[in-house]
Amino acid sequence: MFERLPTPFGLVRVGVAPDHQKIKSVITQYEAVAAHDGYRLLGCVELGTDITRAELRRHFDVVVYAVGAASDRRLGIPGEDLAGSHAATEFVAWYNGHPDHRELEYEVANCSRAVVVGNGNVAMDVTRMLARTHDDLAKTDMADHALEALRHSTVEEVVVLGRRGAAQAAFTAPEIKELGALDGVDVVVHEDELELDEASRAALEVGPTSQRKIYDTLRTFADRPPTGAPRRIVLRFLVSPVEILGDDRVEAVVVARNRLEADESGALRARGTDAREEIPCGLVLRAVGYRGTPLADVPFDDRGGVIPNERGRVIDADGAPIHGEYVVGWIKRGPTGVIGTNRADARETVAEILDDLAAGRITPCDAPDRDGVDHLLRERECTPLTFAHWRRIDEHERRRGGESARPRVKLTSLEEMREIATVASQPDD
Ligand code: NAP
Repeated sequence: MFERLPTPFGLVRVGVAPDHQKIKSVITQYEAVAAHDGYRLLGCVELGTDITRAELRRHFDVVVYAVGAASDRRLGIPGEDLAGSHAATEFVAWYNGHPDHRELEYEVANCSRAVVVGNGNVAMDVTRMLARTHDDLAKTDMADHALEALRHSTVEEVVVLGRRGAAQAAFTAPEIKELGALDGVDVVVHEDELELDEASRAALEVGPTSQRKIYDTLRTFADRPPTGAPRRIVLRFLVSPVEILGDDRVEAVVVARNRLEADESGALRARGTDAREEIPCGLVLRAVGYRGTPLADVPFDDRGGVIPNERGRVIDADGAPIHGEYVVGWIKRGPTGVIGTNRADARETVAEILDDLAAGRITPCDAPDRDGVDHLLRERECTPLTFAHWRRIDEHERRRGGESARPRVKLTSLEEMREIATVASQPDD
């Protein structure tokens, strides 16, 4: 397994919210895989820089790309690049201690209102991080730099903007319920924004129970009188940002009121009206989806932000399968679904690999022995970190966490990780 960071587990380490520790227990399943003799981790090795696609093909019979979606989708509105307007994906990477994002700064200390654009679970995650008390956050494995910045936060209100209605929210039922249970937080929903048009009412009636549960939770929020809690989360529906205002930094968001319209497929889409409203704020986080980025020399579908594939088999520009190259996860199907979704997704890809192997469609590689890759990386002065190295980082982080009753204290600098991983004797891989 090649990984550009010293730490395995991708989004479980740098994407899952720090207050959702239980979800991270999936790591024990990955650890069981890592215990197999045939597995080895080559951390700090980047495809395209330290090793090329052609070299991977020369040294391995089968290559599976599992790189996720590293970038974000944009709003494409004026003012989006003003200071104080950020991608939630980066904010998430920052508070989770991703080494590439540790230097970012968020001016939460001079801001009383933040606006979060989007109605998915990432919007829920960043809203919770802005609304939770420092005492709550200090019990988690949130990166220390983020904990320190949020300790000085003056944010009193987080406004979440949903472009469609309360019946079309993309967040899931447990996540919206969780907002209502936060200490020191009132959740506000405007009664008029819960009113359903006929199509939405019909969709809720025949649609999945989970969507009705979400709607019912939103209704309980609307019925709850505010308690005067120190922080508020305001969930708005049928509004889209059309401009971010400010001279050098964000001062307000202009939103357009939307109505719902069915498209040719019958899906209800947001359509802007002429009605406008200005929401003063000091921080804007757009949580409107992740986006995959291309890998050097690997086919890429720019429109979908994925590696083009059929059931996980990478295909070339003519749609022909490239036997021996496969894809899983968000870079295969786009940035949707929870961690569990990847189980079925991976099964599908593995079934194709086994089929291709059984049918003799995979040409064995030229140089299958391990030494070949090791030699190549050595020549490039690339010294990979192994799973045993990761264990040292892991132990170090947990030990430091134990000192302050936290799950771990994350290392966020690559240099520091390498130092801790390689100190004293060299562990076996
Ligand atoms: P998502 O679920 O696709 O939600 C994206 C949201 O952004 C939708 O509400 C979408 O509205 C809205 N949006 C898109 N473009 C917009 C625009 N131009 N203006 C305004 N709103 C816009 O994506 P996500 O939140 O990034 O989550 C990605 C996946 O990870 C999801 O499957 C999510 O469930 C999962 N995840 C799960 C957890 C968890 O289980 N706790 C945590 C984080 C992420 P429309 O619906 O109208 O398109």
